[in-house]
Amino acid sequence: MFLKSAEQKYLKHLDTQGVFNNTTKTALPQTVFADVVRKHFEKQNAKTPKALLIGFDGARAETMHLLCESQNEKVTGALFHSAYSAVQALKAEGGLYLSFAGGEPSAPQETSTAQGWAAILTGVWGSENGVVRHLPLKTTCPTVLRELAGAGKKAAFLAEWADHFTVTYKEEAEIALRENLPLIFQKYADDCALEAAISEQITDGADCVFGIFEAPDYNGHTTGFSLKNPRYAACICRLDNVAYRLMETVKSRPTYAEEDWLIMITSDHGGHGLRHGTQKQFDRMTFIVSNKPLGAK
Ligand SMILES: [Zn+2]
Repeated sequence: MFLKSAEQKYLKHLDTQGVFNNTTKTALPQTVFADVVRKHFEKQNAKTPKALLIGFDGARAETMHLLCESQNEKVTGALFHSAYSAVQALKAEGGLYLSFAGGEPSAPQETSTAQGWAAILTGVWGSENGVVRHLPLKTTCPTVLRELAGAGKKAAFLAEWADHFTVTYKEEAEIALRENLPLIFQKYADDCALEAAISEQITDGADCVFGIFEAPDYNGHTTGFSLKNPRYAACICRLDNVAYRLMETVKSRPTYAEEDWLIMITSDHGGHGLRHGTQKQFDRMTFIVSNKPLGAK
């Protein structure tokens, strides 16, 4: 692939030693996410499998430089270890990985919200799941949430963007209702209301909770997808703390000792300027942080 020098520079920047467990060359397709969730629930384990899955919509891979130290303090700063950072805690237990949106380079798809989350939740790209553009998910290609609900697990899809509910997952939600599956689709007004709802689901005993926070994408579109934009940078740090609080809610469950929790955070796409959607590396490169190692090199 021919890359412009600014993109090459960005990849080199992401490869700063110490932040990610893999490199831009071994970045994982975002579709691995669903498979990790499937395997977690298939695993034979004396403990009850559970999952807390968090989305930072529009958080480009570089945002992890705000949350993790590297071997180059000119890139990531120094002496800022936080006991209250979800990303730092998950990385220490499992790993922080570079991943990519936008399809395989030989079969690209738009680096956009509907396409990104559909690939993440089904484990296949739009050419298979139907979300090649702003289209509904094929009913023959269920999300991992619907699969889990079909096996009797309580699952929840909680988000803020209306189109998830009116376009992408409209039919999947109707199927869940018709078949009386323990799967709910619920829209919230903002990140604050969403955090409260996720927390409530964890407390109420849901087996797999999936929630997408919109602040990075919203601030990116209005003021810029860049770490030089304080609004964009600040909301990443804030969401890292929100995720930490949700992890604390998990640990406070009275039955926590008998449960095996998979906790992951990811983003659907990156961004540049006031937009995303292109095949530029700024838009393609994303991240997955997990409390279980993903086995990438
Ligand atoms: Zn967007």
